[in-house]
Amino acid sequence: MAISTVNPTTGVTEQVFEAHSTEEVERRIASADEAAKILRGTSYARRAEWMKATAQLLEAEAEELGRLITLEMGKPIAQSVAEVRKSAASMHFYADNAEKFLADTPLEDPSVVGASKAWTTYQPLGAVLAVMPWNYPIWQVIRFAAPALMAGNTGLLKHASNVPQSAIYLDTLFERGGFPAGSFRTLLIGGSAVAPVIADPRVKAVTLTGSEPAGRSVASIAADHVKKSLLELGGSDPFVVMDSANVPAAAATAVRARISNNGQSCIAGKRFIVHTDVYDEFAAEFARLMGELVVGDPMDPATQVGPLATADGRDELAGLVDDAVALGAQVLVGGSAPQGEGYFYLPTVIAGLSDEMRLVQEEAFGPVASLYRVRDREEALQVANQTTFGLSSALWTNDAAEEQWFLERLEAGAVFINGMTVSNQELPFGGIKRSGFGRELAAEGIREFCNLKTLWKA
Ligand code: NAP
Repeated sequence: MAISTVNPTTGVTEQVFEAHSTEEVERRIASADEAAKILRGTSYARRAEWMKATAQLLEAEAEELGRLITLEMGKPIAQSVAEVRKSAASMHFYADNAEKFLADTPLEDPSVVGASKAWTTYQPLGAVLAVMPWNYPIWQVIRFAAPALMAGNTGLLKHASNVPQSAIYLDTLFERGGFPAGSFRTLLIGGSAVAPVIADPRVKAVTLTGSEPAGRSVASIAADHVKKSLLELGGSDPFVVMDSANVPAAAATAVRARISNNGQSCIAGKRFIVHTDVYDEFAAEFARLMGELVVGDPMDPATQVGPLATADGRDELAGLVDDAVALGAQVLVGGSAPQGEGYFYLPTVIAGLSDEMRLVQEEAFGPVASLYRVRDREEALQVANQTTFGLSSALWTNDAAEEQWFLERLEAGAVFINGMTVSNQELPFGGIKRSGFGRELAAEGIREFCNLKTLWKA
């Protein structure tokens, strides 16, 4: 895959980049390793000062960087700018909280282990490789980098090959904020060049956000070298609407959950599972609202849904819908790519699904919603849990006993009740099943790439 910016709104190749040579990758790994030695010796206060200065750069450049995101991957401009601001906020969050999250923990009564004192402390690992996706080109990277650097680690970024300008922006960002040279570097390489980087003894761990095949490959290479890996993979999140729910509110939220980021979000509600007593009302309202969305140029502030990021992604999505239709599913709205340039796909609601359709098992990475009619909570749960994924979920009910019943049984890393899943720096984020392992964000996220050292004193 070429490392290039292709504008998904027009299909025009804007810029093509040479991949880094083996020698350049070596230089960058060496500088991340050297910087790790410096960073681990700095105080939290000093790192926080640099992190806040870096956040201020992001805030000051949010509009310009937002336009770059939209140019490279096509999300509506307001969402791009919001992504940059959210990234800056999470940098402040880790600057303010890292020391607290990584504070030493004493054992209350050390005599039980025969010690005068026993405690644990968190120490950085060193250089960590981050393999990142294009769908949130800044946020996905910052939510790794902010805690990693505040913990005293350094970062090496292998970004998706279709967002090279975002990757290049991030290459210099932390140094501009005051961090020692080498604290965070971009490696402009393709997926096939990742293995030797993971194998390098100076690289201590790897985190990947992306698809299941990429995760499987990266985690197995890490396992070969007995290195820690963290995987944030795909999702096909259920959005369950039970008969006690506020149906108009659920339908309006369902639209936002499905089309945010042009539908290309791992935590988007993708499968809408609705109790038969409210199904007709929900389906009609949901399809009406999806059909009214403004699809067009993502640089236009009036646009609600832009193009998909790549031609392949659009074709893959169209293939899922076509397969379902060929096997008897009904399209309530959308169901096709509009004529004209760019990688657009119309917001789509599809019903009448059956198990042999690919859409039932696979992740629909675009504005396509699947609707399921269920008789009761047992059937709702069965449909919710029937995929191999387990990232997040949404549950709409006003029945407390039913709520508790679902919370205990939904196979997911999170449940958002009477709302939609969003990532938030204050809340741990991650999945189970084939959505991956490990957690990002909150206190749990910063602890993932630390050595939890146990200390015992006679
Ligand atoms: P992708 O194709 O897996 O790419 C993700 C990253 O992995 C890119 O940097 C890619 O590089 C690299 N990569 C791909 N194959 C690789 C391999 N064999 N070895 C090493 N690196 C490899 O995924 P995507 O299409 O960019 O992103 C969409 C997927 O990410 C969706 O499944 C979505 O649900 C998931 N996602 C998950 C989360 C989460 O937090 N759980 C968040 C966002 C997205 P190249 O671009 O050079 O191929």
